[in-house]
Amino acid sequence: MKKRKKLALTCSAVLLSAGMLVPTYDAPVKAKPNPVTMNQPPVSGFISHDELTRALNQVERTSQGNVDVEVVGYSNQGREIHKATIGSGDKVVLIQSEIHGNEKVGTKALLEMIKKIGSNNSPEMRQLREELTIVAMPMINPDATELNRRGTEMTWDEVTNEFPQLEGVEPSWNYYTYQNQYWDYASNPGFDMNRDFNPDLDYTPQPADFPGSSSEPGWYITPEAQTVRDVYKGLQNQFDTVDVFIDLHHQGEYVIEGTEEPVTFSLSGVFVPHPDTEEGEKYSEYADQYNLEYSKQLNLAAYDAVQQMGNSPFGNISLYPQDLDLPGTALGSFALNGSGSVLFEITGQTQSFGQKKMGQLRRAVETGVFGILNGVATGEVSDLDAERYNDIPETER
Ligand SMILES: [Zn+2]
Repeated sequence: MKKRKKLALTCSAVLLSAGMLVPTYDAPVKAKPNPVTMNQPPVSGFISHDELTRALNQVERTSQGNVDVEVVGYSNQGREIHKATIGSGDKVVLIQSEIHGNEKVGTKALLEMIKKIGSNNSPEMRQLREELTIVAMPMINPDATELNRRGTEMTWDEVTNEFPQLEGVEPSWNYYTYQNQYWDYASNPGFDMNRDFNPDLDYTPQPADFPGSSSEPGWYITPEAQTVRDVYKGLQNQFDTVDVFIDLHHQGEYVIEGTEEPVTFSLSGVFVPHPDTEEGEKYSEYADQYNLEYSKQLNLAAYDAVQQMGNSPFGNISLYPQDLDLPGTALGSFALNGSGSVLFEITGQTQSFGQKKMGQLRRAVETGVFGILNGVATGEVSDLDAERYNDIPETER
């Protein structure tokens, strides 16, 4: 923790207008009045920023050189953003978690995986270290983590201070200033940083591109998105292509389509319309590197690994909605840059779900991610029939 500008307000004592609209990725916020405003379920079993910092430093110390931990940037409130690098292979896998601070299981899973891959000398883990370079960025939005909310902690004034060309421009559409029973962005605003990415990794903010919209690219106005972008570009310089990008999120509670079975997590490899289609023509400059088939194979590697754990609840994996056009997400931007991309949407955001089933969900996610890592390390993922992706059951929403 480097600096602290102000005291955080974690929840609002004031109930305001119901039915307020917020962007609908992951679980939309249902802003219905709630008389038990202050009684959000406990989340103390999850990892705080300080705990993560300590844990990563300890892993680095005890990994006998297998894990390299580096501070690669700072959140707007001055909290460290870490990168843990494991392995020396020529295939590179970037995995991030908690881009939304109320989506916390991914960080638990990622930390466990860093420990295991970095310190376990089984043939499987040794193979991962030899064949892959795994770059893990747990908790990339630590200000939101500490507030247990989706958005960053940053005002539009801070953006225009950083980018004076935006003076007088309407704030970006993903700037939160609302208040509801869960969060008080009115007195403590912030951004959905998962709309701040742009497939043009060298983009600088232009006044004409504001306020923008969900189906348009972002601007890299938040230091958190800039940090991830810089890591991604660094890996591109080193490896040419970032082969795989995995983003660990949470969604609401759903069932598998046509059943009563609760979803454990949903997967997806599709975040923008294909550049070769009419709808995706605006992305035609990325058509050569966009590799949807590989994304589908990676998703299948995760799906198959979890299916092999046996039946319910681990078997209850579904597809996330496939008709998205979200170039401002990290997944959308990096997929257009040629990364095989995988979205995990784990059940239950912390403001309503708390830490229920935390251990079980963590194991399911780890199994899925290990399925991808093993498939990439052995090369077997490229043998999977990408068409099978369409057989993954839909989510009933
Ligand atoms: Zn999310």
